[in-house]
Amino acid sequence: MALVVQKFGGTSVGSIERIRAAARRSLAAQRDGNRVVVIVSAMSGETNRLLRLAHEIEVVPDPREMDVIAATGEQVSAALFSLAIKAEGGQARSLLGHQVKILTDGAFTKARIKAIDGSKIFETVDRGEIAVVAGFQGVDERGDITTLGRGGSDTTAVAVAAAIGAGACEIFTDVDGVYTTDPNVCPSARKIARISYEEMLELASLGAKVLQIRSVEIAMKYGVPVHVRSSFSEAPGTWVTGEEKSLEEVVVAGVAYDKNEARVHLVGLEDRPGVVAEFFGTLARQNISVDMIIQTASSGDGSRADVTFTLATTDLARARPLIEETARRVGTREVRYDEDVVKVSIVGLGMRSHAGVAARMFELLAKEGINIQCISTSEIKVSCLVAARYTELAVRALHDGFGLARETR
Ligand code: ASP
Ligand code: MG
Repeated sequence: MALVVQKFGGTSVGSIERIRAAARRSLAAQRDGNRVVVIVSAMSGETNRLLRLAHEIEVVPDPREMDVIAATGEQVSAALFSLAIKAEGGQARSLLGHQVKILTDGAFTKARIKAIDGSKIFETVDRGEIAVVAGFQGVDERGDITTLGRGGSDTTAVAVAAAIGAGACEIFTDVDGVYTTDPNVCPSARKIARISYEEMLELASLGAKVLQIRSVEIAMKYGVPVHVRSSFSEAPGTWVTGEEKSLEEVVVAGVAYDKNEARVHLVGLEDRPGVVAEFFGTLARQNISVDMIIQTASSGDGSRADVTFTLATTDLARARPLIEETARRVGTREVRYDEDVVKVSIVGLGMRSHAGVAARMFELLAKEGINIQCISTSEIKVSCLVAARYTELAVRALHDGFGLARETR
């Protein structure tokens, strides 16, 4: 009998009525002759509510206690889901992270899974019950409850699917799949039928929030096909899978944008060995991640250079005093900031085998009169930093310019 893993996100278990509907879906999969394992999130809004309670007591609450609190959201969903299956005439059993056992490291609020023991799950499904596993939570070596970071139930689902050798992992959510770009910004955005793990990782790190990044990494590592689909319809969603020849034929699979970027311009930095190492080393030691970096020799005597880099807007307040101080120390004429920027990116496996993709991107932006401030590339991605007021224009021009408005895969 095949093993099926179904994960239901917060909105899919957001009310008793929805839990009943999801439970019927799991029962249907069981009736089709499968052994079914369900992973549940907390009911929508619940994790936020729980974390707020903790923050009412302390601004920075003890992370160990935070996890004890946050894990209750999924505990409630798992038991309600199990009850709903029984109410429909089926058999089910809820399993918490420590009961399964989902062993993690001890990094509270952002723990990583080290091992999953499949035996409790197998015992359960082999008795004919549906195993309903609480997502997001695990247990560390000391027996303390841990959680996997926001959106972590996706990771539980994919890791469980890998551990028990399920053929695929279904992620039921409130959207019907992964889109070629944000439909709120670009009306011609389409659902993608198939996308590779690599492309999905790039899109997720650029802000496409459908799957937790860690879950895609695990899916890629263990080769678990992931099917992202709507819990409100029967229509197929998006398959996230390994590379296939046909995926390479499409040059650009998706367009992403990230408004959480701020640009810092160091004017007239001393041009000698060790300066940028010292500058960025100081930021790194304070855990401030930098994204794009450009260095140009400034005109004139040749002993000065300009460096432009970007970092998350959400880190800027914290980074600013450090940037000012380090700039002074290493010798910089002036520091300028610009928060009104957006990073637009194109992602696609086909870029590896097609030339001129970046040039085409620059041309499409130029045609709209959009000036490019910074560029960065990877094997399957090109990103351009542009003024934030051009977000929609840039995304639409790239999306339609690369032919994504029509069916490609
Ligand atoms: N409930 C957790 C969160 O909201 C985990 C999840 O839903 O994936 O982050
Ligand atoms: Mg989620």
